[in-house]
Amino acid sequence: MDDTQTSQKKVIAIVGGGVSGLYAAWKLVCEKNLTDTEIHIYEATQQCSGRIYTAWNFQGFPIELGAARFSKYVHPVLNSLVEKFAFKTMPYVYANRFWHLRGKKLSLEDIAAGKGTYELRENEIGKYTDNLYEYTEAHSTRTPEEINAMSFHEFLGEHISEEACRFFRDAEGYDLLLGDWLSGADGVRAVKQHPDMLQAEEVSWFHIVGGFHKLINTLEEQIRERGVKIFTGHRLIEVVQNPESVTLYVEKEENSDSIVKFVEAERVILCIKRLDLADITINLSEEKLSAMDAVQPIPMVKMFATYTNSWWSTFARRDGNFCITDMPIRKIYYGPGHHLMFYSDCESALYWKDLISESGKNPDALLSEVQRQLSVIYRMDPTKLPRPNAFYSKFWSTGIHVWRRNSNPVQVRDLLMGTAQDRVHIAGESFSVNAGWVEGALETVNLLIDSVLYPS
Ligand SMILES: Cc1cc2nc3c(=O)[nH]c(=O)nc-3n(C[C@H](O)[C@H](O)[C@H](O)COP(=O)(O)OP(=O)(O)OC[C@H]3O[C@@H](n4cnc5c(N)ncnc54)[C@H](O)[C@@H]3O)c2cc1C
Repeated sequence: MDDTQTSQKKVIAIVGGGVSGLYAAWKLVCEKNLTDTEIHIYEATQQCSGRIYTAWNFQGFPIELGAARFSKYVHPVLNSLVEKFAFKTMPYVYANRFWHLRGKKLSLEDIAAGKGTYELRENEIGKYTDNLYEYTEAHSTRTPEEINAMSFHEFLGEHISEEACRFFRDAEGYDLLLGDWLSGADGVRAVKQHPDMLQAEEVSWFHIVGGFHKLINTLEEQIRERGVKIFTGHRLIEVVQNPESVTLYVEKEENSDSIVKFVEAERVILCIKRLDLADITINLSEEKLSAMDAVQPIPMVKMFATYTNSWWSTFARRDGNFCITDMPIRKIYYGPGHHLMFYSDCESALYWKDLISESGKNPDALLSEVQRQLSVIYRMDPTKLPRPNAFYSKFWSTGIHVWRRNSNPVQVRDLLMGTAQDRVHIAGESFSVNAGWVEGALETVNLLIDSVLYPS
């Protein structure tokens, strides 16, 4: 035992101080009222947050470099927390969009009039992505198993031309829709659920006023009050399962030395990303280790430029409040407030990776490239574009996860979550059926705690 273990009570160790780890602790102490057990959270970085990252609150508008929005209908677990903690919410409205594709500015009317520059088949001209998707779905004779065995690209490509597939990806603004990133089954889930995709369906999407970080802060505050011990700067490196316990080896930086401590726990809940799991030595079964390959990490980038005024408003009033382009900047959200948000994934996100990682030493290179792409859209001299007074960027090597072809999400999630007899449990967004969302992360915790560990 070391200084992280302070009493003779048994310990449940939670690894990862993202939303799933904090929520797991919150459920144990606030809902299940565990009093005979110490709950420890081990978080590798200096603060709990994970992929929820509200960098700054500019004029009341949060700069969300990670998660930003949720649906009151599609995300019931998250919505119930938002209501329980009485967070104010603000509608997320980006329905009014325009495009800049292959060098041409297009409105929805322009697309309907066939003014795009894609070499489409006759029956594809004038169609928007929802029509192309509906056409594919209506003509597909594939079983759900067959759709799961193909990529989403192949699923679309069976019924629409390759150029129409490219238009679909470019106009939706997500690179993951083509190539081998996404399985057919996960693609169908994504296009039906995502607020940016397929204009037809109106679901209610919201921001949390003051930022998503309020959820992290509130959970952290309430669990600390109930005695949960949070060890930041503690990275798990090894887990050894013993017959009666589990031993965790955690590394901590101290006076520029790294110290390894060990902790004996009754069980451990690992709430960390798939690739972070790969860095930990764990004696799990071969079946569990290979099941982890069922998910694919998706790189993502978010950038924000804040200005003293909304200089783009003359364009935005005419064009809409959301621009999608095929340039690596991909999606431009106007406001709220005087800021622009840029959001890209996969190949487009990788385009920014080095510029962002070097921006500490050379911020001009990143900013110049952003200005260059904006100047193409607005047909303005880049030197005449207003310069932002603040710029924020974040490259996520794993932004979200998606399920690979032929995977069985429910089976993999349940296998890795384990049973009450197991001592090592895996939860969080990585292996959730609702991967990609905070909701998915919360759902796995509910399942583990309410159905596996403490069924009522
Ligand atoms: C750019 C972006 C935009 C997004 N937008 C949305 C959105 O609008 N709405 C939405 O619902 N979701 C969104 N998401 C997804 C959402 O952020 C995630 O699903 C959710 O935050 C995942 O939570 P988690 O607890 O499972 O994992 P994480 O938040 O990744 O937490 C894992 C934690 O584990 C820690 N850790 C890793 N390894 C170790 C170790 N060895 N020892 C100790 N600690 C370790 C990490 O430091 C991290 O803090 C977005 C994500 C990104 C990146």
